[in-house]
This record gives sequence, structure tokens and C-alpha cells, in this order.
Amino acid sequence: MFHFFVSQDNISSDTVTITGSDVNHIKNVLRMKTGEKFIANDGNGASYCCKISEITDEMITAEIDEGQLQSNELPVKLVLFQGLPKADKMELIIQKAVELGVNEIVPVEMNRCVVKLDEKKKKSKIARWQSISESAAKQSGRTIIPTVCDVMKYGDALKKASEYDIVLVPYECADGVKALQEKLDTVESGMTIGIFIGPEGGFEEYEIEKAEKNGGQIVSLGKRILRTETASIAALSICMYSIEAKELI
Ligand code: SAH
Repeated sequence: MFHFFVSQDNISSDTVTITGSDVNHIKNVLRMKTGEKFIANDGNGASYCCKISEITDEMITAEIDEGQLQSNELPVKLVLFQGLPKADKMELIIQKAVELGVNEIVPVEMNRCVVKLDEKKKKSKIARWQSISESAAKQSGRTIIPTVCDVMKYGDALKKASEYDIVLVPYECADGVKALQEKLDTVESGMTIGIFIGPEGGFEEYEIEKAEKNGGQIVSLGKRILRTETASIAALSICMYSIEAKELI
């Protein structure tokens, strides 16, 4: 079924109206007719199944068919702070992170990052990464498009995360996975959780100390050393599973 983003002002208790460029798209490109159905997303995680009742040149009117659909979004915000990896790894990480329910991805310059992007390259990379997020969001049925932020320095990233409820810093030298589980047991609806993953070369020891000073929880993802892309996917999978299993609303 086709999905359209509709502003909240155009959604009432039983009707959705579509105005602007989507009208031409629905009427003349998709050639949809009255009685056909589509999904309206309000951009904030709510979505509605709608049945078209009227088509004019300016407006599509549709009745909300089944009330609000159950949201596919997690009840918490997951923000991935990813140490800039080499080559195409970031693309893979973004795609998988979006599939797993991430809300925001922040590429971070860390001391052991091999890749150094100049300003021009940063801009084009972010645009490319954002488009990967958008395709992954559509493919995986997300009702929001996760943002890929501008590349940040490590200190700035820690500062941004200092306002979050939980900041996890997976580190291969940490002992035991219990600390991670215990931390995830405290998760409540509406929280924001930051996850810091080092680049291929890992974190410097002083970066770990700095994260701890800023309220970061140093945690293990198991006894084996994971590649940076595996670590991000594993950390997000663990969080997603643990949060969904709690069935928070
Ligand atoms: N410097 C390391 C590898 C770094 S792996 C080495 O070559 O030996 C890249 C990142 O993945 C790490 O910075 C860490 O954030 C994460 N990571 C990898 N394995 C991990 C594990 N077992 N537990 C927690 N984090 C891990």
C-alpha cells in the first residue's frame, strides 16, 4: 500500500485530507480512484489506513478506515554515535541501524578513525547517508525517517549525549554482559538512549575515561572482539529486543 506523510493539521478523528503536490501524484501519476486505500503517516509515528472518498484538483479526502494503526516505532529513542569507519561500512551500518529502530545516527570523529573527511566530502556523504536512511525506513515500514546528523567531534558527541537518560559505551575490554542487561532493565517509555561505538581501531583509553566522566556506562557485548559494524548491529539488536520484550507503551 502507498504511504504518504500528512501534516497533523490535516488529520481529524475520521478524515484525512491531502493537499499540495501529493494530490497530483495520487490523481495523475498513481491514478488512484475513490475507494482505494493508502496509509497516512503523521511524521511523528502515528499512521492511519485511509479509504479515498473524494478526489478534486486541489484535494484528496479520505476516511480513516481502521483507526490508528499500531506504531512500529520503539517507545524509546535510540541514538547511535558511530566512530567513522572506512569505505562503505557506514552505509551498511546506517541501513541496518534504521531497520533495527534507531532514531538518529551521529557519525563521530574519534582518535583512531582512519578516515578524515574534508568539509565538502562531509556534506556529500551526509546527503548520501540520509538517502540510505530514507530507503531503509521505507523498506522496513518505519513511520519516521531517522536523521543522519553532521559529523561531530568526540567531545561534542559526549556533550550531546550528556542530556540522555542512558549512555552505553560498548568496549571490548569491559567485563561480562550483565551490566548491559541491568542497564536495559531500567529502561522506561520515552527515554533516550545513546550508544557509542568505536571505529575499526577502537577507542583510546582516555576516550573511555572521558565517556565515563560524562556519565557513559562501559559495557561488554560478549567475550569476542567484534568488528565495528558488527558491534553497532549487535548493540542495537540487543537494545531493540530487550525494549520490545518489555512491551512498554
Ligand atoms: N581495537 C580493537 C577492536 C575495536 S572494535 C582491536 O582491534 O582489538 C570496534 C568497536 O566495536 C569497539 O570500539 C567497541 O565499541 C565495539 N566492540 C567490539 N567488540 C566488542 C565487545 N566484545 N564488547 C563491547 N564492544 C565491542
